[in-house]
Amino acid sequence: MDNYTSDFLVIGSGIAGLCFAIHASRFGTVTIITKKEDSESNTNYAQGGIACVLDRGDSFELHVRDTLTAGDGLCDEESVRIIVEEGPARIKDLIDWGVDFSHLSRAGNPYNLHLGREGGHSVNRIVHARDLTGRAVEEQLLSLIRANRSIRLFEHHFAVELITGHHLGNLRGTRENTCFGAYVLDTISRAILPVRAKFTCLATGGAGRVYLHTTNPSIATGDGYAMAYRAGAQIANMEFIQFHPTTLFHDGAPSFLISEALRGYGAVLCYADGREFMGDYHPLKSLAPRDIVARAIDHEMKMSGAPCVFLDIRSAPPAETKKHFPYIYRKCKGLGIDITRDLIPVVPSAHYTCGGIRVDHEGHADIDGLYACGEVACTGVHGANRLASNSLLEALVFSFRAAADAGSRLRNRARIPRESIPSWDDSGTIHNEEWILLSHDMTEIQSVMWDYVGIVRSNVRLSRALRRITLLEKEIENFYKRTKITVPLLELRNLVTTAKLIVLSAAKRKESRGLHFTTDYPEQNDRYWKKDTVLSNK
Ligand SMILES: Cc1cc2nc3c(=O)[nH]c(=O)nc-3n(C[C@H](O)[C@H](O)[C@H](O)COP(=O)(O)OP(=O)(O)OC[C@H]3O[C@@H](n4cnc5c(N)ncnc54)[C@H](O)[C@@H]3O)c2cc1C
Repeated sequence: MDNYTSDFLVIGSGIAGLCFAIHASRFGTVTIITKKEDSESNTNYAQGGIACVLDRGDSFELHVRDTLTAGDGLCDEESVRIIVEEGPARIKDLIDWGVDFSHLSRAGNPYNLHLGREGGHSVNRIVHARDLTGRAVEEQLLSLIRANRSIRLFEHHFAVELITGHHLGNLRGTRENTCFGAYVLDTISRAILPVRAKFTCLATGGAGRVYLHTTNPSIATGDGYAMAYRAGAQIANMEFIQFHPTTLFHDGAPSFLISEALRGYGAVLCYADGREFMGDYHPLKSLAPRDIVARAIDHEMKMSGAPCVFLDIRSAPPAETKKHFPYIYRKCKGLGIDITRDLIPVVPSAHYTCGGIRVDHEGHADIDGLYACGEVACTGVHGANRLASNSLLEALVFSFRAAADAGSRLRNRARIPRESIPSWDDSGTIHNEEWILLSHDMTEIQSVMWDYVGIVRSNVRLSRALRRITLLEKEIENFYKRTKITVPLLELRNLVTTAKLIVLSAAKRKESRGLHFTTDYPEQNDRYWKKDTVLSNK
């Protein structure tokens, strides 16, 4: 392969992209591009773990039921069965690849793994590597990729647009809705290059950065949703944004998550005086599903005017707490909070995007040659609300299926000639000096989304958000057309498009379900709304 041509192009180096690449490399050559350092991803920050049926006391039916219950009537049951039933084989892949999961001291399940418990799960089924599961998986996958001669990984390469028939002027009968790779900005040399491939896998992760408060790292700017939407793909269920109930409330660590596993281990939500309050909201109390916990905290904070609520794990044996949660313990200790003796101040923040690029059961989008895996995809698994620790599982299972599907189609697929792909045209653009506008726009989008499209919505808030986001979108698009592209500009453009997709989807759904709660339609309406919201610019 030349530097920028291969059978498969993978955009993103989180769990979905790396697993797709490893599986696809059995069939052909793979190029991975990623916009920052290779490990910078949501995956790297995942703490709790990966849901998987391994224990004798558990069953596929139970995991399916828990997932469907969380999804509140909108899950695609076949997708759910796929991840649940294929999960154990994908966990075995990770073990075979050397991921060092936490073990039991005695035999208890096929791999003797310690299984944690999280909200919404009726039994212990969370495979984990202490409280740094994502990092353990990411590191191991990257070391495998580095040793694989069929895979090239380019850091600091930012995918700008998917190359489709539209760019080729539907040359030689190519259909507009076919993907041939992507235009990519090398953020070091600043060159924009066409990267060609027979199949492209978007694995760009989520969009937490659309909101002012989020658990997501800075890469999560919704690039994949925006690129796919511009290219004409269907985008589904973007109104279902999961707000994690318990992010540390502390200036020194604005997006530090206090894992749900801590509540699985026994921590309870309480006021500053230690009184519990979740009993007023759900029989499972502090282990209720995330949307209920997040709304309860939001309600408590609005009622009391307090800036946060608290988690209390003081009654657990301190040595056990430190052993199970070394990362959380150290991080909080560094900020002056000893979690074995002090209450932990927490607030909800944007955590996971349940909707995304609509794909079939092989992870294929409705653009020929384009797959989407991981958080950027909407496989139907999560429905209206994601069950904790199902996202890493979904990424594992669907990246495997997508790579197998693409691999089986490889032989019959021609690569588009290099000369057919026009160079990136930025004639007429200038180096703009007004970068201050960009950072202001970013903060404005995030504030609008937090204030009007957050945990509780209403018609008035949504139409106010839509007016502001549409105006910002126009201004940003004008700026983009006149300006030499840079990473902040590209991210801002993708962020505003993704924000608009969320607002439009939320405004469409005239009911409350799962993660979408609106005061104008507080009831669930199965008659009209037991269906996905779908957006397309075609
Ligand atoms: C703090 C935290 C804790 C979590 N804990 C859990 C958990 O315990 N269990 C669980 O199941 N889920 C958890 N999640 C969710 C889970 O981590 C993510 O859903 C999952 O890691 C997403 O994987 P991904 O491969 O789809 O995307 P990511 O891991 O986010 O990777 C996306 C990749 O795409 C790259 N990228 C993005 N845009 C571009 C572009 N334009 N060009 C090039 N590259 C690009 C990024 O740089 C990155 O490498 C957690 C999430 C967070 C933030």
